[in-house]
Amino acid sequence: MGPRGIVALAVACGVALVAEGEGSRLPVAEAAGAAVVEAAHPVLRDALGRIAKGSETWRRALEALAPTGRRALVLTPDQVVVRDATTGAAGRFDRSDLAEVSPVTEAHGQIRTVLVVVNVERLQDVHERLGSLPGEFLADVERVLAHEVYGHAVPYLEAGHLSGRCADPEPGMPATAACAIRRENVIRAELRLGRRTDAGLGSLALLRRPTLE
Ligand SMILES: [Zn+2]
Repeated sequence: MGPRGIVALAVACGVALVAEGEGSRLPVAEAAGAAVVEAAHPVLRDALGRIAKGSETWRRALEALAPTGRRALVLTPDQVVVRDATTGAAGRFDRSDLAEVSPVTEAHGQIRTVLVVVNVERLQDVHERLGSLPGEFLADVERVLAHEVYGHAVPYLEAGHLSGRCADPEPGMPATAACAIRRENVIRAELRLGRRTDAGLGSLALLRRPTLE
């Protein structure tokens, strides 16, 4: 399993994510006083806290969203089932996928909740095998969240509609011109996490380790 495999698999693949227990726990958009971006996993929760502390742009965006009641739920693969868009078949999140964003679409394309899945376990596995320092793993978690949450989820929430889609680069297009990567780089700059210039994962610490160069 080389880095190329991760890159290919990290690209959205036409599946819809459904939070487990949907119906009982969702929609949660009206929950009074609830955080705009929420995570149950401690690594993700702590990373969201560090991003909010270090990035004024992130804080301002979330403050502006708070009165709307719209929310992003940051989940781990064990907390979601994946439903195939064409067959409707339900399955588990692909363990080799790194992250995925899925807006919960209501009537007329309206969106109040966006699900963000981050495969913390897989990211941690890769870093452990590479012998990374703990800080490198945590910085990669922040980079992934900057992209998935601020790059993809927040624009959906701001629009409250599918039309808020903020895209990844199309093949042949400069990565830094793509909506989601431009936004990711704003947060990265404020957190001093380096600038992303590619469509893949080349700017994550896990691909900068000497063993992979
Ligand atoms: Zn993306």
